Amino acid sequence: MALAIRTRLTLWYVATLAVILAALGAFLLVRLRADLVTGVDQALSSRASQIVLGVGGGGQQQFQDVGDTALRGLPLGTTGAQILGPSGTVEDSTGAGVAARPMVGSRSLALARAGAPVRASVPLGPGGDAFRVLAIALPGGGGRVLVVATSLDDVSRSVHRLAILLALALPAALVLAALGGRLLAGRALRPVARMTAEASGIGADRLSERIEVPPVTDELQRLAMTLNAMLDRIEAAVEHQRRFVADASHELRTPLAVMRTELDVALRVTPPGDAADALSSTREEADRMARTAENLLTLARLDEGIRLRRDPVRLDELARRAARTLEPVARARGVSIEIEVAEPSSPVTGDPDRLGQVITNLVDNAIKYARDAGHVRVTVRGLPGEAVLSVADDGPGIPSEALTRVFERFFRVETSRSRAREGAGLGLAICREVVRAHGGRIWAESRPGHGAAFFVALPLSPSPPP
Ligand code: ADP
Repeated sequence: MALAIRTRLTLWYVATLAVILAALGAFLLVRLRADLVTGVDQALSSRASQIVLGVGGGGQQQFQDVGDTALRGLPLGTTGAQILGPSGTVEDSTGAGVAARPMVGSRSLALARAGAPVRASVPLGPGGDAFRVLAIALPGGGGRVLVVATSLDDVSRSVHRLAILLALALPAALVLAALGGRLLAGRALRPVARMTAEASGIGADRLSERIEVPPVTDELQRLAMTLNAMLDRIEAAVEHQRRFVADASHELRTPLAVMRTELDVALRVTPPGDAADALSSTREEADRMARTAENLLTLARLDEGIRLRRDPVRLDELARRAARTLEPVARARGVSIEIEVAEPSSPVTGDPDRLGQVITNLVDNAIKYARDAGHVRVTVRGLPGEAVLSVADDGPGIPSEALTRVFERFFRVETSRSRAREGAGLGLAICREVVRAHGGRIWAESRPGHGAAFFVALPLSPSPPP
């Protein structure tokens, strides 16, 4: 299962911390127990010495007295003392009932008799409760051994209490650590998120932009520098391609112009007939090629970021001029053009030639696609902050899936509309680039079968291109 890097980091962090805290907890419990048992051992030693001193050469009664004195103050039933005879039987006992039976095994007994005090934790009594015992040989006792024992109940209780505290604190600490770890991981990854946002914002039209390089020499700095180096290469390649298109279309202009002139001359001297038809169709194709080359050159220049003029421009005046220019084309198709200025709008700021070209392209398309003897309506409206121009026709419209694609280069809606064949699909791409360079928006709306409408919105106040 693939987890987000932030979650993975947090999980690793929490898991490592859990192992460390568990080990630390276990160490604390073992240490606490060992220290407490050492304390118990010391208490047992001092009790045993007390008894040994007290008993001296005395008999049974004296052991009872000394034993009781030595064990006084300790809870009855948890501490006991006994004397084991040479055969290992209990000769005498005092204190807790567990002392009534031998509290150490024969091996411990043998060791104690040999002179080595034996300390051990053993289960005693019917319940098998844990006791700490100390067995030492009675000096001059003729093989008799003194065994003192005390319950380890208190020790177990203290250790248990700490264990419960740790069991409660550990998960709480882990939850806090998880929250903190997640926060830290998020912080550490923030530069990556920023770089991602920056990189995804760099499109073909903003290739000169670069990702901000973090000042610290680390993986993130290397990543940013690598991405920037890649952007350098992409920019150079795109620039190369742009130059190539611009140069190629520029180089095509002159031979095409010569071809058109010579075809005109040839047409003038060729008598009507097949040859003249062929010449005139060649002339049309040469025109089309010249227009395409011209459009390609315009696009290449727009891509390079040509300087636009920043004059006050009235969209309604540009619309009237475009309508006048295209009047003969419209008349040839019987199409009427109506211009409606909803509100005398304030001028926009821009390049009148380029904006004029946009409106001419839109009106030209509308005339081209309007139905025979149809209608084209150009509207100019002033809205708060922007002026909106629309060009609507009553032609076949545009399928919804093509509404945004019509602005792509060389995109043409595939239909059998023969009269629209002369275009190469660059007109609207040019419109989009010009409008964008003015900081405006362009879009199309259509109800297929009921015509198409193109909208251009331009900011009223000067605005830098995005
Ligand atoms: P072209 O030179 O082919 O007209 P454009 O970029 O101007 O290129 O238009 C692209 C495509 O958008 C056209 O081929 C056509 O399919 C579609 N289109 C443009 N304007 C209209 C319109 N008014 N009505 C229907 N389709 C249109």
